[in-house]
Amino acid sequence: MSEKYIIAIDQGTTSCRALIIDHGGAIQTIAQQEFTQIFPSPGWVEHDPEEISEVQQRMVKNAMSQAGISSSQVEAIGITNQRETTVVWNKNTGKPLYNAIVWQDKRTADICEEIKEKGWADKITGKTGLFVDSYFSATKVMWILRNVPGARALADQGQLAMGTIDTWLIWKLTGGNQHITDYSNASRTMLYNIHDLEWDEEILNFLQIPRSMLPAVKPSSFDFGHYEVDGVKIPIRGVAGDQQAALFGQQCLEPGMAKNTYGTGCFMLMQTGEEAAISRNGLLTTIAWGLDGKVYYALEGSVFIAGAAVQWLRDGLQLFQTAGESESLASRAKPDHGVYMVPAFAGMGAPYWDMYSRGAIFGLTRDTTKAEITQATLDSLAYQTRDILTSMESDSGIGLDQLNVDGGATANNYLMQFQADILGVPVIRPKVTETTAMGAAYLAGLHTGFWNKDEIARIREIDREFVPVMTDEERKERYRGWQNAVKRTLGWLKD
Ligand code: ADP
Repeated sequence: MSEKYIIAIDQGTTSCRALIIDHGGAIQTIAQQEFTQIFPSPGWVEHDPEEISEVQQRMVKNAMSQAGISSSQVEAIGITNQRETTVVWNKNTGKPLYNAIVWQDKRTADICEEIKEKGWADKITGKTGLFVDSYFSATKVMWILRNVPGARALADQGQLAMGTIDTWLIWKLTGGNQHITDYSNASRTMLYNIHDLEWDEEILNFLQIPRSMLPAVKPSSFDFGHYEVDGVKIPIRGVAGDQQAALFGQQCLEPGMAKNTYGTGCFMLMQTGEEAAISRNGLLTTIAWGLDGKVYYALEGSVFIAGAAVQWLRDGLQLFQTAGESESLASRAKPDHGVYMVPAFAGMGAPYWDMYSRGAIFGLTRDTTKAEITQATLDSLAYQTRDILTSMESDSGIGLDQLNVDGGATANNYLMQFQADILGVPVIRPKVTETTAMGAAYLAGLHTGFWNKDEIARIREIDREFVPVMTDEERKERYRGWQNAVKRTLGWLKD
């Protein structure tokens, strides 16, 4: 019998990818192609849903031919996707009424204001775990219903469907047979009641979105239908939004386990078990996944400026030529230099939430060089991560025992060691950093019995564990310095 493989579909914000993964968890091949970013006016970001579907299907087929495998060797497909981005289409014709409105799109800011003015903000947060923001799907659907000619009438006649990108792709892959999503994606729409586990009738009525537009919501490891390739029906068995898939791919399967992705910004999720933790620090509550008949929750927080601060040193100040050089430069900094850099280029997010703060460097002396400034900048990624993780611990009442990391900036060993030191817990960097795709593959493979949980645990190999070596006293002292520095930037634009 020839060997079987899982295909992970990784439908991101800028590219469509397909990965072929074998039973040992090794990635055999990756096919990837970018697709068109459409910017019709300032603050608007769209994708062509038909293009996404076409490119994504081509990547699946390319990956199979690159790896030299036939469709009968594919055990199952797992899908992970850019979250919140929304498509509305006609159920009868299968044609989108408008381009996909991307999560970054800000056109619905005034619809969000309208919702807040009517006093619904707290109620919506209580039900969905999200803040009223144009980021989430709800106001994107409203915009299409209000602005695309004929949309409202078709919606009222029950002829329209809406979906996040997973839902749209499954609709296309199954030839219009399935209108379906998973808990993790549903929880990003601002329409789903994450406590009752149903589309919230009250919110739908208030926002005038007909129930008939919404997909069925299922566990993340489930029978989502099949994709027929060369006469073979390939089962689709796993679905999760990208950040949740990464949390699963990092195998944060117990409450209190967390992952942080260090890219342009940082994306942090902490699994909180079967209880939805409510944040007092401005973090989001979201569904991590549905598995084995249970629903698991997570707290989510992000750092706006992380790797972007390193880019600023490189391109803005021209302190070095490649981001990688920041590591050796930081290692040349004088000990106890006392320099702090607060990269509040666009205000500060959780737990400070101050849009009036701006970036600053503190503690400069005559002997400060670019080494100290670079080190202080890398340190700021670690301090901001601690700010959010501390909030997560206090919101969930669960202590963090290790941090699993991925993303471009985790290549920096200085940063990873400092992160472990400033958190006081080990930082674990896996060998395979394709955690998002692996999460989707695991969800699919668990459903068909291709893998069990023990096998998955064996697949994940650790590249390096960074163990804290800093004394408690020094950790406290340094973190206090950071908090002092942040305090001095708050409200800057107002003063
Ligand atoms: P994204 O997906 O947001 O584009 P990536 O995961 O590709 O991000 O990571 C790129 C980011 O990480 C950039 O902002 C870059 O400045 C930063 N980065 C990359 N390598 C390093 C490094 N060795 N040290 C510090 N920062 C790095």
